[in-house]
Formats: sequence, C-alpha cells, structure tokens
Amino acid sequence: MSFSSTDVTSLRAAATGDVFARGDNGLVDAVAAQNTLILHNPDIAVVAADEADVSLAVRFAAEHRLSVTVQSTGHGAWRPVSEGLLLVTGKLDTVSVDEDERIATIGAGARWSAVIDAAAPFGLTPITGSSPHVGAVGYTLGGGLGPLARSHGFTTDWVHGFRVVIGDGSVVIATTSENPDLFWALRGGKGGLGIVTEMRLELVPLRTVFGGSLFYDTPDVETALRAWVDWTATAPDNVTTSVALLSMPPIEEIPEPFRGRFLLALRFTYPGNPEDGDRLLQPLRQAAPVYLNGVTEIPTTAMGSIHADPTEATPIWDLGLLLNRIDQDFVTELLASFGPGTNSPFVAVEIRHLGGATRHDVEGGSAVGGRTSAFTLTLIGVVPPLFERMEAIAHDFLDRTERWVSAETNINFSSHVDTPEHFAQAWPPEVFDRLARVRATYDPEGLFAFGPVEAVPQA
Ligand SMILES: Cc1cc2nc3c(=O)[nH]c(=O)nc-3n(C[C@H](O)[C@H](O)[C@H](O)COP(=O)(O)OP(=O)(O)OC[C@H]3O[C@@H](n4cnc5c(N)ncnc54)[C@H](O)[C@@H]3O)c2cc1C
Repeated sequence: MSFSSTDVTSLRAAATGDVFARGDNGLVDAVAAQNTLILHNPDIAVVAADEADVSLAVRFAAEHRLSVTVQSTGHGAWRPVSEGLLLVTGKLDTVSVDEDERIATIGAGARWSAVIDAAAPFGLTPITGSSPHVGAVGYTLGGGLGPLARSHGFTTDWVHGFRVVIGDGSVVIATTSENPDLFWALRGGKGGLGIVTEMRLELVPLRTVFGGSLFYDTPDVETALRAWVDWTATAPDNVTTSVALLSMPPIEEIPEPFRGRFLLALRFTYPGNPEDGDRLLQPLRQAAPVYLNGVTEIPTTAMGSIHADPTEATPIWDLGLLLNRIDQDFVTELLASFGPGTNSPFVAVEIRHLGGATRHDVEGGSAVGGRTSAFTLTLIGVVPPLFERMEAIAHDFLDRTERWVSAETNINFSSHVDTPEHFAQAWPPEVFDRLARVRATYDPEGLFAFGPVEAVPQA
C-alpha cells in the first residue's frame, strides 16, 4: 500500500462526495458503526455521493493496492477496519417504486424504513428484516430473514437484479440473464464480490398484518416457552413466530411495564385477516397467563414494532447460530443458562422459527446459507463489563447443546466471524467453494475484503 497526500488531493478533486484520510476531522463520524465498540480507522474513507464515486474509489484502491470494505448503516460491522479504503454508501439512499411492475429500485444506502414508506402508498411492502433501521442492500446480500420469513422466505428470493461496481471499477448488471453467476452469488454470498450500488426488489401486495408480541411475566416464562416449542412442530407455514428471553434493565429509558422485568416476548406475524390470525394465535395466548398482549392488526409501516429492535448505537456483544431442531430438553438447557433466576447478563436471547418458504430455493438457485435449518439463536449483551462473563456462559451453553446446533449458519446470523472455519460455516461447503470461484472472476485481485482476515492485496 502506498499513496501520497497528492494522490488524496487528486481523489478529493475528482470525487463528488467527501474523502477523508486517516487523522482528518470528520473521519470518525463518517465511518461510525452501530456497535460503538467497533471503531473503524481506515487509511482512507470515501463517502460516495453517486455511483461514479464508487467506481472512482475502487479504481483508486486498485491502483494503490488498498483493500476495499463497504459500510452503509454500520449495523453489520463485526470487526474494526484498520487499513485500506472504506467506502461509505449511506448517501446513495434513493428509493423509487414502479407500482405496475411492483418493483422497488433501492440505492445502496437506503434503510428498510425508506423502502417501506415508499411502497406503502401503493398497498405494497418489501419483505424486510425485524429492524427498519437496517440497510436494505447489506441485509439482502446475506439472505435476509425477517418477521415474514416462513410465509415469504428470504428477502433475497425477491430480488430481480443488482447494479454492481466490480474489481476493475466498471459497472455491471447482475440478473438471471446478465452475469447470472454474480447474481447467484450476491443472493446470500454477501461480500467480496463488488459494491452494489442499486438493487431491484419485488414488492408484495400487503397493507396490514396481524402481528405484535405477547409478553409473559417471570413465573410464566417456562410454561409459555415450552408450549411455544411444542406448537412450532405443527405451526402453519404462513405464520412466523419467534421468542426472546428479555432481561430488561431497571432504567428510566425502559417503559414502566417492562422496566426491571424478566419477560418472555413471543412475536407473531400473520399476513392475513385478523380473525384468522386471532384463531391461529389462540393456543399461544392460552398457553400461560399473558402479561401484555400487543398482537393486533397493524399496517405494514409498523412492522418494526413486532420485534422493537433498539435504534440507538450501543456497545454490543452477540453470538448467532442456527439450530436443526429444538425440543423440551433443549428448553431445559436454555433455561438453565439464561432463564429466570440465573441472573443472565444477556439483555435478549432470541430464537426465530424458520421453515415454510425459507426452505424453498429460487429457480436457478442462490448462495443463501441456512435453508435447511429450523431455528435461529442469537445471544445479545450490551453491558461491556459483563462481556467476559457472557462469553463464558455462551461457551458453556454451546458445549451442552451441540446436538441441536446446525453445521451450517447464515452470514447475517453469524455475528463476529473470528476464524476461517467459522466464516466457511455460513454456507454449505459446495456453495462456499463456488462463491470463491465467482469472487475470483469479478474481483481477480482480491480487492474486496470480506471474512475473518483483513485482505490486503499484495503488490
Ligand atoms: C438491530 C439489528 C437487527 C437485525 N435484524 C436482522 C433480521 O431481521 N434478519 C437478518 O437477516 N439480519 C438482521 N440483522 C443483520 C443485518 O442484516 C446485517 O448485519 C446486515 O449486514 C446489515 O446491513 P447494513 O448495510 O445495515 O450494515 P453495514 O454494516 O453497513 O454493512 C454490513 C455488510 O454488508 C455488506 N454490504 C453493505 N452494503 C453493501 C454494498 N452496497 N455492496 C456490497 N456489500 C455491502 C458488506 O459486507 C458490509 O460489511 C440485524 C442486525 C441488527 C444490528
């Protein structure tokens, strides 16, 4: 890697967006991640104002042998970027909707909230994740499992095409007919393939869902959790549910009914009429006394309230994986580590039910990992002094629950991928190998850093 201050001045003059070199005022804010413990400090950051800036930055990186990483909202940052060029796409946030074709054209920096709001006036909605604040493109490149996962599958199953800046700085289209291998790879392969500048996503006609959360108080957590696990064995494919053991801190920012409590949240989403939804919910409502019932008919614009993910940047420790199955013995292990009375340091321990449409691949295939898994499991902590304890508890739990854990994960649910083996697990082995071949085609110099080690191209 070598570039001079004159090179930076030339890049700055050619770019429409902002260019920061290490040490420049404004760099820290421009590259801030959602996890406040991750502090990026790249050699250079380009805040792209348009697609031409993306090409310019990639060509600059190629010329000066810099690795390229990309960040939109920073929700997916799992290690600090400490060298190379960090391309920030947050300003490429345009969204337009073609009502007749039911297609949204989504800029690389757009959050789901912008897509949801643009689609809603036409009675349409994207298949999103749990949080409207997450970036639509970064999320979809990893597959994307949200509150409509069982009825509508992975979000990437709804993609019609991408515009991508590849390793030589040129722009290519990836669809089923143009660069189909790149299209296959971008549907779940996530990184190391190029910088997506735009995504065309099919929208579904849906104005409301029957959704929200049932909350069970501490004494009823075990009964409700065990009933949900049994219920998932025969749950209809058009209902998506998840549970979260929530340990709410006793602080003012947490609203009164939740403050300082240990609760089970059972999230429920049914994309149909409220009468049918209510009938489907009934066994879960009757499984144990309900502390708060927040399940009702809501507009798709309010779907973020189902999981109510935090929006503020915070320090985060998390661990994610997929499960083959769960049963009552698994619940016993889960409660022994994270249940009431364990003084669990985790703010949330979440299990999402997969299956239904998530099992069906698209015509022509995709690179998504985790289609054969039945559940996700995510452990989340936000109090740094407790992180070491969390790690120890998590490892002890994983030692006891190996038989339920899937060999394969999904890159959006892998949290920090710290070893090459852990990284490879995010896809089936044959998909992982094919992804490597596609990466070599579109990024032969290995410019786009992705994976556990910071890839710095050698001169
Ligand atoms: C609160 C929260 C809720 C979440 N909920 C869900 C969920 O319901 N379902 C789910 O599947 N995942 C979920 N995730 C995981 C999330 O989808 C991933 O972390 C995703 O990568 C975030 O994308 P981003 O662009 O917002 O983040 P960033 O940190 O900006 O980007 C993350 C990565 O995405 C890739 N990327 C982003 N933009 C581009 C681009 N233009 N071109 C090429 N690569 C790009 C890069 O590899 C980049 O490192 C959640 C994460 C958080 C923090």
